[in-house]
Amino acid sequence: MLRGLMMDQPLIVSSLLSHAARFHSDTEIVSRTIEGPIHRYTYRDAEARAKRFAQALARLGVTQSDRVGTLAWNSYRHLEIYYGTAGMGAVVHTLNPRLFPDQITYIVGHAEDRVIAFDINLAPLVEKLASQCPAVKCWIAMTDRAHMPAINVPGLLCYEELIAAESGAFEWPSFDEYAATCLCYTSGTTGNPKGVLYSHRSTVLHAYAASLPDVFACSAREVILPVVPMFHVNCWGIPYIAPLNGAKLVFPGAALDGKSLYELFETEQVTLTAGVPTVWLSLLAYMKRHGLKFSTVRRAVVGGSAAPPAMIKEFRELYGVECQHAWGMTEMSPLGTFNVLKAKHRALSRESQFAVQVKQGRVIYGVDMKIVDADGKALAHDGVGFGDLMVRGPWVTSGYFKGEGGDPLVDGWFPTGDVATIDADGFMQITDRSKDVIKSGGEWISSIDLENIAMAHPAIAEAAAIGIAHPKWDERPLIVAIKRPGAMVTREDLLKFFEGKIAKWWMPDDVAFVAELPHTATGKLSKLTLRQSFKDYKLPGT
Ligand code: ADP
Repeated sequence: MLRGLMMDQPLIVSSLLSHAARFHSDTEIVSRTIEGPIHRYTYRDAEARAKRFAQALARLGVTQSDRVGTLAWNSYRHLEIYYGTAGMGAVVHTLNPRLFPDQITYIVGHAEDRVIAFDINLAPLVEKLASQCPAVKCWIAMTDRAHMPAINVPGLLCYEELIAAESGAFEWPSFDEYAATCLCYTSGTTGNPKGVLYSHRSTVLHAYAASLPDVFACSAREVILPVVPMFHVNCWGIPYIAPLNGAKLVFPGAALDGKSLYELFETEQVTLTAGVPTVWLSLLAYMKRHGLKFSTVRRAVVGGSAAPPAMIKEFRELYGVECQHAWGMTEMSPLGTFNVLKAKHRALSRESQFAVQVKQGRVIYGVDMKIVDADGKALAHDGVGFGDLMVRGPWVTSGYFKGEGGDPLVDGWFPTGDVATIDADGFMQITDRSKDVIKSGGEWISSIDLENIAMAHPAIAEAAAIGIAHPKWDERPLIVAIKRPGAMVTREDLLKFFEGKIAKWWMPDDVAFVAELPHTATGKLSKLTLRQSFKDYKLPGT
């Protein structure tokens, strides 16, 4: 084999920030701080401070491969910690503050975090955690001296003081691109949470691929506001994609309510945003209530759970925003597919285009994807036959941290736990998570399809479909729905709305109206909790 003669330069994440600091030095990073005011600085400043943080970590005794935890919202300081930690060869471990303290304690222990940096509005949580996490030597409050929380935890440090004590005279070290950069635990809807450990190489490759025109289409002309948190699969890669392209970043901090988000979209002239469906439901409801429109937002990326078609339509028709459906998972860094139409779709009617746009999208180069039947046999890409979705690629996990759960791969493929179809154009559509599918009379009913129809009803704000035990059919569908404020709708109205939209045997057996639906720590409908609370529910006629 004749070897190529190209430079042997490892793909290391610090190079992304260095690139932005050198060639987009005055491009802004704007943050709504926990302390209150809007903070703004540039990529040049971000790199300088990230280097100081790397020096501070070394002074605290953190060495390469050690884990540094974060309990924090999206902000410039969190970005500095991402880069300062990974840049010096240690591992950032993003913790989800919305988990129960017991779950966080378990994850901190499993990851063996040595240091944890936290946002000051999470100080009460830190106070609870500290005594349960004796191996954590320092807790760094991400603020200045004036705003230090009055809590009693061992090794409490002030972020601003910590980095002010350093010179900043630091060169990012070079090392093996297969070294770990970031650790992220899956929510673990069943069993203990499992850690996915990204490498520098996988992170940089994912950032390249995610920047492409048929994916985030990122560039130095975009202003990106990630609503998706930096603790939810690396904010879907945005902290890496933005500096790679020199895009302006706008961080919303902890204020994720409609009013605060809308204000930032407008004042910072945001063009591109990303988040799970639940955040858009509340933002769009706020905008509708106040008769507001976007001035600059052109694209909203929706993923994490199925984007209801009604939402995609509302974004487009009421707000002129292209709502792009994306699919991925923690184990995939996270991007697997992204929905952008092909040239051949341009000539189609709006409705036919829409039928394609509601799918989860086309696979991104770098990820290989197939659907298989129960025997592991690959199924045709005909858009009809559905099977278990399997993936592989350089940013797909090969196993969990410390071997948790054993070897997850099947013949070198990662089973996603999703059930999907793939059409002849390569567009994948999730019909369900395999554990959420409703099994009736030996056949499967897609809970996502039923939810999408319910949520297209004008009086419905949010809906979930779950299987309820049935003596004859095994399970039958129940719709659990929240009405829009002031809307009038009965069980019969909603059931009638399904008629003609689905096969007769898919018709939900009943509707339960509720005031609230349970969500997971990443803002998805928690079907597990819902199934538990409805486990004794009696369907009509049973
Ligand atoms: P968890 O939800 O357990 O915290 P992830 O964030 O990794 O973990 O979730 C990945 C799962 O989320 C996928 O396997 C899939 O079931 C679901 N998901 C992600 N994006 C979409 C989407 N666009 N449509 C439907 N389901 C999605």
